Amino acid sequence: MQRTKVKDLLKGAEVGKEVLLKGWVRTKRGNKYVSFIAVNDGSTINNLQVVADAEKFSEEALKDVTTGAAIAVTGELVASQGKGQAFEIQATSIEVLGKADPETYPLQKKAHSLEFLREIAHLRFRTNTFGAVFRVRNSLAFAVHRFFNEKGFVYMHTPIITASDAEGAGEMFRVTTLDPINPPLAENGQVNYEEDFFGKATNLTVSGQLEGELAAMAFSDIYTFGPTFRAENSNTTRHLAEFWMIEPEMAFYDLKMNADLAEEFIKYIIRYALEHNREDIEFLGQRLVEEDKSKPQNERQEMTLLEKLEFVVNNDFERVTYTEAIDILLNSNHYKKKKFQYEVSWGIDLQSEHERYLVEKHFKKPVIVTDYPKDIKAFYMRLNDDGKTVAAMDILAPGIGEIVGGSQREERIDILVERMKGVGIHEEDLWWYLDTRRFGGCPHAGFGLGFERMVQFVTGMGNIRDVIPFPRTPQNAEF
Ligand code: ATP
Ligand code: MN
Repeated sequence: MQRTKVKDLLKGAEVGKEVLLKGWVRTKRGNKYVSFIAVNDGSTINNLQVVADAEKFSEEALKDVTTGAAIAVTGELVASQGKGQAFEIQATSIEVLGKADPETYPLQKKAHSLEFLREIAHLRFRTNTFGAVFRVRNSLAFAVHRFFNEKGFVYMHTPIITASDAEGAGEMFRVTTLDPINPPLAENGQVNYEEDFFGKATNLTVSGQLEGELAAMAFSDIYTFGPTFRAENSNTTRHLAEFWMIEPEMAFYDLKMNADLAEEFIKYIIRYALEHNREDIEFLGQRLVEEDKSKPQNERQEMTLLEKLEFVVNNDFERVTYTEAIDILLNSNHYKKKKFQYEVSWGIDLQSEHERYLVEKHFKKPVIVTDYPKDIKAFYMRLNDDGKTVAAMDILAPGIGEIVGGSQREERIDILVERMKGVGIHEEDLWWYLDTRRFGGCPHAGFGLGFERMVQFVTGMGNIRDVIPFPRTPQNAEF
């Protein structure tokens, strides 16, 4: 007999028929006459209730049907008499596939803290919260591919091991097969990476952008979606050492087209999740409402999670230049009352508190900030005519801060080489990158969206460690 998933059984099409269900026991309760077993198989946030009459199932037969056990149930799908569910299974047989000792199984009925669940990340998928989070994550990932596929973008796999440290030097993880105790040394006494596996020093990539640009110069529109790695020691709720990034790169796009695409993209994937994961998002929203009850009134969310997402999907993002953003900050009461910890003046890198003021207090919606000072942005961003700013754009989201970083790229080789020199990057090291400017170069643009930050935004989870299955952060690589 074929197994049917809970999600499909709950649609009720098989009512009156014999069905086979396999899943994990969430709870068992009952009395002398009947036991009610809530079963979940991860296909939906909802459990399916299995009814086991004492006439058919002795206490002994059900003794291993405990929270966490894997079971197979056959029986008739019937309309439920009880409250809380439309359908249930009247069991005729229950087989325990895998026991879960109630004495030692860590997930019991009571609510566990997110911190505790992080320590048992191998089991946390089995909770309502993490079930919802990872189903939403899955939908968002699928929507990413669907969006770009519909637009004719080519999905490009850029390398994970890279010899270019053009971006984020010092923040990279070294990849080596050299003996850590006795590495071969060069004449100058330093480690001789010529003897290493690739014949040169290599690292895990921090971004697929530079290679993405190469592909865009042939396919016009490409995107990457893969893991990136940053050895930055920032223990925040928004940083991971291993995270997934989506990086589209488009030939013949300017900054405005780039921003338009990013906004359309973000709205599209949120809309997809709203359509396909409504119950999960409602559940996660309810979680936040509960969480808010222990907070002072002024720190509570003004909108529910669903309202927030619908608002974002249905309203234009705000667009301001960096210079305008600085003026807004300088003219704010917040600034005048000296409430910012970090200084505000033209030329600063916006701190998290500044970004949050702009999106959460001033505009109350996602904001696209463009045209940043060149000195705080990467060398490949296109120099504006003012000579001071570059055609950069960051998208800031309420509760998260920076979610997208992008720019129009510098296509003029002389200016690009000049900017590389300024940050100490040798032309020889990026000869291949510069070739795209030598041969058929053209105006082009792209951006990077941090996937986990997007998942945080849609699920409302406060800590980025709770939206990736097995987080890698400083001092932590368990599982
Ligand atoms: P931040 O200032 O927040 O550290 P960044 O300027 O270093 O971000 P970019 O280099 O522009 O970020 O990377 C593109 C996107 O990748 C960011 O907008 C963000 O969404 C995401 N991102 C960057 N660093 C991390 C990280 N350590 N963990 C998770 N996501 C990240
Ligand atoms: Mn960073």
